[in-house]
Amino acid sequence: MLKIAEHKDPQHSFKAEKFLSAEKLYLPLSQHTGKPSKICVEKKQTVRKNQLIAKSDGFISASLHAPVKGEILEIKKHFHPKFGKIKSIILKTELDNNQDNSLNHSFDLEKTAKEDILTAIAEAGVVGMGGAGFPAQVKLNPPKKIDTLIINGCECEPYLASDHRLMVENLEEIFKGIGVISKLVRPKEIIFAVEENKEEAIKKINYFINTKKTNLPKVKLKILKSRYPQGGEKQLIYSLTKRKISGKMLPLDLGCIVDNVATCFAIYEAAYLRQPLTRRIVTFCGDALVKPKNIWLNIGTTLGELIDKKIIEFKEKPKKIIFGGPMTGDTVVNLSTPILKTTSGVLFLEKLPKEEEESACIRCGRCINYCPMDLMPLEYVKMVKNKKYKNLENYQIKDCIECGCCSYICPAQIPVLDYIKLGKEKIK
Ligand code: SF4
Ligand code: SF4
Repeated sequence: MLKIAEHKDPQHSFKAEKFLSAEKLYLPLSQHTGKPSKICVEKKQTVRKNQLIAKSDGFISASLHAPVKGEILEIKKHFHPKFGKIKSIILKTELDNNQDNSLNHSFDLEKTAKEDILTAIAEAGVVGMGGAGFPAQVKLNPPKKIDTLIINGCECEPYLASDHRLMVENLEEIFKGIGVISKLVRPKEIIFAVEENKEEAIKKINYFINTKKTNLPKVKLKILKSRYPQGGEKQLIYSLTKRKISGKMLPLDLGCIVDNVATCFAIYEAAYLRQPLTRRIVTFCGDALVKPKNIWLNIGTTLGELIDKKIIEFKEKPKKIIFGGPMTGDTVVNLSTPILKTTSGVLFLEKLPKEEEESACIRCGRCINYCPMDLMPLEYVKMVKNKKYKNLENYQIKDCIECGCCSYICPAQIPVLDYIKLGKEKIK
């Protein structure tokens, strides 16, 4: 794994602000791994806050809800940070909206059956919020015995601070979410993993554990060195348990489940409050901004609206906008691109690293040495350049987690990850 510049300050210490007044929300039907959700509203229909607007469509899929009250303006293709333009529900919101239609009572988890908790999590549209968006109810109903539950508070990508703020400001809810997961998967051990650069969160977690503010006796805090891509499921399992995932194995094949802290928070809201996943903290940062910020946003809020309302302000026109972190994020060009359930941050860059020309591979082997999945990145480059796409699968290209370490480390400036993405596209 790599030690790279963190760029976490000052956003690490900025309290998450609230912004709830987007006039229009753009809600793509794919904000998760699996089949897109199925629309269950019509144009011009009035919807309540938290109303289901698109149902989960199959075993691996997730439901989508209206973050606020409003009217369905249109259902049409709209920008998505990863997939170009895809079918989306456009909601014209009612700005004077203080009313909360969620069921405002807390459920007694002790008396609630496991199946009912899983149903509540599925109905709330909870997905993994660390990046991939895997539907939570599927992960939390494993077909095998789980001995280790890992709570991922690493947030190893440079710049991002949303998980850190959530741990500092909403730790009690995160622990309640961990309690729900623990009830569902009954692990022998719970490890809360945080990188050493999150001092404020570490203090809080220690306090919670030591003062028994949590009734989860099995939680152990593990402070890890800041390394990239330590927050990846497979790398984190290895760092903590020395169990190695290879090939098509899943964490549960090694008796592990990994859940991000934001997902734990959403699970708490779903299980205790029947509150669907409709908002999250997003970090806005980068040298083009006047000031970095962490903001609670409804999903579907566009960058354009935040800029128009001066919620985020530029000191320089950004040359590049990235949804996510600089290592794994997606470059976007349209300011109408909305925040999704999986958007932990948006990066606005004015100064870009000098583009150096790609030169020939010198076979130094650094990309192999630093690949956290033990792959052969240089071979992928060769195969894609020679259009030998069929060979890519023999070299396990599908195991690549697209962490970008190979591109970052390559002395010949070869954009290795770009070749890998192209190769993956070709074999699809
Ligand atoms: S790091 Fe770059 S130059 Fe070195 S082997 Fe890999 S692709 Fe070739
Ligand atoms: S090959 Fe994939 S997993 Fe390996 S370093 Fe490159 S991007 Fe990361």
